[in-house]
Amino acid sequence: MQEDIILSTSRKQELIDITGKINNIIKKSGIKNGICNVFTVHATAAIIINENYDPNICLDLLDALNKLIPAGIWRHDKIDGNADAHIKSAILGPGETIPIKNAKLQLGQWQSIMMAELDGPRSNRKIIVTIVGD
Ligand code: ZN
Repeated sequence: MQEDIILSTSRKQELIDITGKINNIIKKSGIKNGICNVFTVHATAAIIINENYDPNICLDLLDALNKLIPAGIWRHDKIDGNADAHIKSAILGPGETIPIKNAKLQLGQWQSIMMAELDGPRSNRKIIVTIVGD
C-alpha cells in the first residue's frame, strides 16, 4: 500500500512533524505487522527521526547543520545558490524505515518522524509512504 503526503513549507529551513499523517495512512491500510518506509523525492529536503517534544531540539539540529555546512561557499552555489541544502539533505538522507507491530509504528517515546525542509519555502514537497506487511 502506498500513499503520498504533499506538504507546503513556510520557512527557509524547518522540521515538520509528519508522524500523525503516517499513523493515519497505517490505520487506513489495515496492516498490523510489517514495515513503513517514508521517502522524500527531493534533493534539498530529508526525512529524520528525532525528538519533537522539546522543539528546541529541531532548532539546535538546524543550527548545528548550519555551523557544519555554511551557505554560499560551494561550487554549486553558482548554479542556484543552494549547495548547502543539497549537502545537508545528503547527510540526513531521503528516507527512514520504521517497523509496525500491532498496527502501531514502533517508535520510541521521544521519536517523531519529521521532514526537514532545507531550501524553502516550497509549495509542493512530496513524501511517499509505502507500507508492506499483513
Ligand atoms: Zn541546487
